[in-house]
This record gives sequence, C-alpha cells and structure tokens, in this order.
Amino acid sequence: MGTKNVMEPLAPTKSKNVSKILDQYGRAPIHLAGTDNGLYERHLLFDNVIDLAGADARDRLEAFARSVQDVLSQRWTRTESTYERENPKRVYYLSMEFLIGRSFANNVTNLLLDPLASESVRQENINWAELLEQEPDAALGNGGLGRLAACFLESMATMQLPAMSYGLRYEYGIFKQLIQDGWQREQPDNWLRRQDPWEVARPHEKVEVKLNCSFVISGGALLPDRPSSLIGIPFDRPVVSYGGKTINTLRLWAASAPEFFDFQAFSHGDFVGAVAETLEAESLTRVLYPDDSTSMGQGLRFVQEYFLVACSLADLVRRFRRINADWNAFPEQVAIQLNDTHPTMAIPELMRILLDDEHLRWDEAWDITRRTLAYTNHTLLPKALEKWPLAWFEVMLPRHLEIIFEINRRLLDSVRTRFLGDEGRVQRVSLVEEDAGRKIRMANLAIVGSHIHSKLLRTTTVKDLAEIFPERFSNKTNGVTPRRWLLLSNTITEAIGDDWITDLSQLRRRKPLAVDAGFRLAFRKAKREAKMQFADWLKSTSDISVDPETIFDSQVKRIHEYKRQLLNALRIVVVYNRLRQNPDLDIAPRTFFFSGKAAPAYQLAKLIIKFINNLAGTIDGDPAVRGRLKVVFLPEYSASLAERLIPAWDVSNQISTAGYEACGTSNMKFMMNGALTVGTRDGATIEMAEQAGEENFFLFGLTAEQVVSSRAWYNPHWHYENEPETRAALDLIFSDYFSRNEPRVFAPLRDTLLTPGDYYCT
Ligand code: PLP
Repeated sequence: MGTKNVMEPLAPTKSKNVSKILDQYGRAPIHLAGTDNGLYERHLLFDNVIDLAGADARDRLEAFARSVQDVLSQRWTRTESTYERENPKRVYYLSMEFLIGRSFANNVTNLLLDPLASESVRQENINWAELLEQEPDAALGNGGLGRLAACFLESMATMQLPAMSYGLRYEYGIFKQLIQDGWQREQPDNWLRRQDPWEVARPHEKVEVKLNCSFVISGGALLPDRPSSLIGIPFDRPVVSYGGKTINTLRLWAASAPEFFDFQAFSHGDFVGAVAETLEAESLTRVLYPDDSTSMGQGLRFVQEYFLVACSLADLVRRFRRINADWNAFPEQVAIQLNDTHPTMAIPELMRILLDDEHLRWDEAWDITRRTLAYTNHTLLPKALEKWPLAWFEVMLPRHLEIIFEINRRLLDSVRTRFLGDEGRVQRVSLVEEDAGRKIRMANLAIVGSHIHSKLLRTTTVKDLAEIFPERFSNKTNGVTPRRWLLLSNTITEAIGDDWITDLSQLRRRKPLAVDAGFRLAFRKAKREAKMQFADWLKSTSDISVDPETIFDSQVKRIHEYKRQLLNALRIVVVYNRLRQNPDLDIAPRTFFFSGKAAPAYQLAKLIIKFINNLAGTIDGDPAVRGRLKVVFLPEYSASLAERLIPAWDVSNQISTAGYEACGTSNMKFMMNGALTVGTRDGATIEMAEQAGEENFFLFGLTAEQVVSSRAWYNPHWHYENEPETRAALDLIFSDYFSRNEPRVFAPLRDTLLTPGDYYCT
C-alpha cells in the first residue's frame, strides 16, 4: 500500500496514575467527572439540560461519551492537520458495511482512560454495566465483511496509518431479530433514535452527486424520474488508536435533497410536494440491505452503491487537489481499497472524473485508475457475485455505461488476440453477461480495473481472469483487532507484559507457559469466571439457566447452508438419541449455543433457526437428558453479544463445507480466547491449524478439492441407508418428534438433505 506513519512517536502510557494519563493529552486538568466543572456534569447540564438527579441512564451515557469525545477531539484535529502538513500517501477504505458495534468501552480503553473512568464511576456512583447497555450497537453491516471493515479501521489507526474510511450513514442498521414460536421475526433497528454522541455532522463539506434521473420510491421499488442531483452530507466518527495518539476518521454519507426548493412547484402552491422531494432523497440512506452473500436485484441498492462511490471520490479528489497539482502523483498519494464489489463503480467514476472533468487521455486515466484501486473479494459463491442490470445504467448512469463498454471493448480485443478462437473464454471474462436480461458483472469489472486480494478465488470463481492477469492477485488473510477481541483477558498481561496489545506476535512468548501449572490454573480460572459472568448475564436478561460446569460449545455466525448449522444440529440429535438409548452413557455434559441471523428472504435458513429452537425446547422438556445436554439459541447476534460470549466459550465450531468460507473472522476470535476449534479445512481455519499445529485442532471432513470431486460420487442416500445413527436422527426429525404441534414443518429439510442431493455435503 506504501502508506507510512507520519505521527510523532508516542509510547502509550502504561501508568495507572491518573495525572500521568492526563499529561498525555496535553491539557490538564481534565476531570471526567466528580467536580463542579467535571466534563460529565457540564455535558449533562449544557447539552441535555438536566441535573444529576434528573438524568436517566441514557442521559448519563451521552454525557460520559461526550466527555470522552472532549478528550479525543484535540488529538483528532491534530491527526488531520499532521496529514495535511506531511502530505503522506493516504489509504481510503470504501465499504457499504461497517459492523462497528458499541464504541464507548472501546474508546475509553484505547484512550487509556480506564483508571480515570473507574474513578469517575466511583465518585458519581454510576452503574457501569447499566451505562454500557445504553449504547445501541452501530450495526451497519451484515456479518464478517462489515466486522472486518471495523477491525481494519481500528488496526490502521493503531498502526498510525493515514487512513480514512467511507461508508453510508444508514438510519436503520441490520434488522433486530426476535424469536417467536421458534421462528425468526425481523424488526427495524432505529439505532439513531437518540442522537449519537460520537458523530460530528460536517454540512460545509457536503458534495453534490449527479444522476441522469432522479427517482421515486413506490412500494419498495425504484422508479426513475427526471434528471436530478443528490447531496451527500458527511458525518464523521472518530477511530481511536490504541494509546490514543492517532484518531482517524470514518466518514459516513447521509443523502439529502439539493438545498434549493422546486420554486416553480412551490409558487404554484405545491409546498408539500417540494418538501416531499427532500424526503425521497433522504430515504436513499435510510436502511442497510439485510442481505448476506447473495446479491439482490434492488434498484435502491444500486443507487446506494453509486452514491457512496460518488461522494467519497469527490471528497478524496478534492483533498488531493488541495495539495497536489499533478495527476500523475495520484497513485503515489492515494490508495483506494474496495471492500468487495459493492463500491466497484469507483472504477468508471474515477475514469469519468479523469476523462471528463480533468481532460486526461484514456490511457493515462486507465493507468492511474488501475494503480490506485484495489479490490478485496470476500465470496467464493459464484451466484453471490454482484451483477447489475445494464438497463439501470442506461437510465441512471449512461456515461458510466459508456466507459464500461469501452473498458470491455479493449479487454475483449486483447483476450481475442491472446486466445485466438477461444470464444468461450471471451464470453466468460466479458464485463457484460449476455444471458436473458443483459447484466454488468461487477467482479469482472473490479478485477480488470484494479489489483485484487484473493487466493481460492483464482483457482475457482474467476479462473479465466486469473490466468490473464496473474500478477494482480494476492492473498491477504483477514485479521481481527486484538484490542476489542482479547484485551479484556488479563491473564496474558500478567504473564508476559503488555507489548502483545500492539504486537500480536508477542503471544508466542506464552508457548512455554503451556507447561506452567500456575499459568494453566490462571487460564482455567479466567475461563471459568468468563463462563460464570455469561451465565449470570443470560439469567438476568432472558431467564435462561445454563450451567458453567458444562462444556460451552458454540456456533455463532450468519445462518447459511454452507456454514452448516444444520450439520451441528444433526449431530446433537445423534447425541440425544444415544443418551435416550443408553441413559448411563459416559459423556461430558454439554451446552450447545447457536446464534445468528438469517437473511429475511432466505426461507431455508429461517427453517434451520426454527429447527434449532424446537430441538432446544424438546431437549429441555426431556427429564432423561437434563443436566447432560442442553441447546440454547441466543437471539439478536451482534458485535456486543459476540464480545460478551467469545471469551466464555470452550469449543468453537467452524464447520463450513470446505471451499465456501473465504476466510471467517470469529474463528480467530474464539481461538485467541482459548477455545478449541472443531473445524473443516476451510478459510483461515486452515492457516490457524498450520500455525497452532493440526494436533491442536479437531479437523474433519473433505478438503475443498475433495468437495469438488465428490460431486461425481457423493450420495446422501447411501448414508441414510447404511448408517443407523444417521438414519435414526433423520427419522426422528421427520416423524415430527420435534414438531408435534406443527406436522411436516421440517419436510423441506428432508428435501434439501436427501432429495436433490445435499449440495453442502451435510
Ligand atoms: N456477525 C457478528 C455480529 C460478528 O460479531 C461476527 C464476528 O465477530 C460475525 C458476524 C462474523 O462471524 P464469522 O466469521 O464466524 O462468519
């Protein structure tokens, strides 16, 4: 990427001494609370206009968070002015999703304010746990892709890289999941109902986005109207590095109508119509698409993607031009990372800017574009690769379509020259899919117009393009930030000091401690405490009792056939049958936990949730297995739930059909927190097992290559006919044993497992 740290070196203060922490921030004295002019009291009074006695828990959170924001603000402006002064190469991370979760505890910890916060909490008699619960998750993402983006931001700030991230300010994040009668029900997540204390609106930095037509939304569909423009208003959120030295920015765009009224309509008396247009425009960034791993042909999403790209490029080009006169310097000064294909329109948009606004020649513009943009691929499922109807480009972005056609013409000319007569290859690499209803293949466009991060992809999904442009592909394994996902486990710091917090490779120093009885005891104690804490929380919030002495076995992630929650559930049925047949069977008592959302239109995934819940209910009602086997489905999987449960788990299930999980992220979080992995050779689990030694993993199942070759011979009926336990488990399910009042509700599971041939090798 070529970016470098330009901030002056500053070692994070390791002191618990409050005055030393304050010295770091260069403005003494700061009192978060506890004095007449403590920040907390001032914010309560002057922002919320309420006194201490009248404040509710949410008021207290807002005041506390604003106090923390006060501490970081100076650092934030200083970070930006350092970048302006030093003019380093900047990295811009474009993503339609940021699954940030809560910011409060993370910001306090990264600013090293924990001792100060504890002191304030004590002085003010604040209930810390209650305070933390007041912050809604910023759930602006579906799953791994969005969580990866959030981890990257924090890590880039901690590495002091001049990075800025762009996304959309959805008013509604991923839906809230309720479970009713075992079924998933979706409810809107209005996370901005109360003002978010972290975000800073910057209306003076607004940008204008031109569309060939405006749109009206009718019945959820997008209808084109006359030519129009939209305004993007940036809302900035601080991205706090560990140690608090660098505060980078996450800039989220909110859509708005141009500030002018339609005066003609207005003067003809249509005041309401003129205002309604504003509402139409604002609806563009109202809601995140609740979809995971499949592209949905939705016009609104198409405009959302273009809006993100157009606003962000206008903003970063404006910043580049403020300091740089020469366009040739652009790829040396700017790296733009596209998180999946969602922001791929950055390619034709940057070409449009360079060709039409800046009047560069095609070859120059293409060279700059290709060297500036990089694309991260996240999916190996061919049907999940985005394709947009050509007709939508024709209506809304005709100039971009023209540019895409020209990119394609040049690409196909060169492929024809190189692979004479191989028309099949030409069709496969083309940016335009000519099947029924012509479509633009966004992944092909992203690969042709950038450099790309992927490994498995080059041997499977886009093999033809990988053969033509081998030098453009490189593999980067996902990562997770150790601050959010490990820092709270204090046995590590006690054992090896705290250098690991910013240099994870230091964890290797724990290896000799594997045989240290004292460390092992401390580790077990920490794990047990985490399990007890989780059990207490679960009891107090949902009245479910779980026994921390049982093995906590987890599978928490989006519900998807390829992730194979169904395989895990079938195995539980097998164990249940064994216990029913042999009540004296000697097995360690276990509690199986599942959590995860299903895309609202993904019926089979929703049925899997229903099955797990029915399984849990039936097992709970059976005294024969009480205390030995329990199943719990935790509703509303979110980043904050993940933070709560990951440290408490003994076993992590990473059991996707090999070849389908591009990487995974919770696999690493569980392992870092000392869980044992039951897994397939898929995604980053492969590399984790290599690092830790396969003997320390519970690996099973086919490899990705074997899955491919098994298509020729795998027959689920064989297992049904020849394996008595498999047959007994399936027969129990299909006898409606788990659905006595809902006959045949699980019949579709039989269809998917047995009738067409069990595509995911369950
Ligand atoms: N969803 C949420 C809320 C998460 O916190 C995470 C990871 O922590 C994921 C999804 C991704 O999980 P996985 O990598 O297991 O698919």
